[in-house]
Amino acid sequence: MTLLDGKKTSADIKEEIAIEVAELKKQGNRAPHLAAIIVGNNGASLTYVNAKVKACERVGFESTLIRLPEDISENDLLNEIEGLNTNDAIDGFIVQLPLPKHIDEQKIIMAVHPDKDVDGFHPTNVGKMALNLPTFISATPFGILELLDRYQIETSGKHVVVIGRSHIVGSPMSILLSQKRTVGNATVTITHSRTKNLKEITLQADIVVAALGIPEFLTADMVKDGVTVIDVGITRVEDATKKRGFRLLGDVKFDEVAAKSEFITPVPGGVGPMTIAMLLKNTLLAFTRRLG
Ligand code: NAD
Repeated sequence: MTLLDGKKTSADIKEEIAIEVAELKKQGNRAPHLAAIIVGNNGASLTYVNAKVKACERVGFESTLIRLPEDISENDLLNEIEGLNTNDAIDGFIVQLPLPKHIDEQKIIMAVHPDKDVDGFHPTNVGKMALNLPTFISATPFGILELLDRYQIETSGKHVVVIGRSHIVGSPMSILLSQKRTVGNATVTITHSRTKNLKEITLQADIVVAALGIPEFLTADMVKDGVTVIDVGITRVEDATKKRGFRLLGDVKFDEVAAKSEFITPVPGGVGPMTIAMLLKNTLLAFTRRLG
């Protein structure tokens, strides 16, 4: 079994980005600038967004965190977004999801200018991704492609089973891996909550991408020997023995599945850190595109 070390791989990517940023600055350019909007006080969201801002600092980017109250109106949020769309000093920005119930998430995603949409959630960018045109690929599936690439895991002709069909992970992952691209050319089965006989399907998989958000869902009896497992899930589970009161669990029952796997991602330290590194990569892309 080989561990797909997202922590180390993301550190390598960040190092590469830092070198590129230093070079850009040497040439007289300003630093790339990422902004992040967060609405309310959701603990997990705050952790993610703070990690993103910190990562910016480490590679030499500028970053701006905009914290807005839970009860902000949809209109006021749309105005904030318009402000970032038209702010020349900002290369890209994200709106941390989920948003409070009174705000229409789709409307917010649509309001972000596609050229600054470094999360790759705007329909224009999702459409380009689906057509295999250059664009911002959303960070989680982009990070998984990069991890597979850097560990030279063959995907061509392999059977990939994706569990979960969300717009941010399962769906784009299934599209990307089936495309004609370096990490791609796979035969992909996408499964979801209405799938029947899931175990019969996962048992045929060379690669499983688990992105359903149910802790320790994928068990050893559901995979064949020599499988590659990508665990996207992150769930906070109460744990009084931990200082912060919880621990993080993936969607895979790690120990028993790892024993049958050729490659597997840990949680934490797998897909999570890759997601942040790819957000930085997208921000750098937004910056260099604006340079022309
Ligand atoms: P989601 O809730 O939007 O989607 C879950 C999907 O799983 C749905 O499509 C649903 O049909 C499917 N599903 C639910 N129960 C199922 C079952 N029993 N069998 C098969 N499919 C089932 O979730 P999401 O936003 O895609 O996130 C999934 C998990 O990944 C969560 O734990 C989330 O925290 C995590 N996540 C991690 C990262 C990261 O950077 N590592 C990024 C995004 C999401």
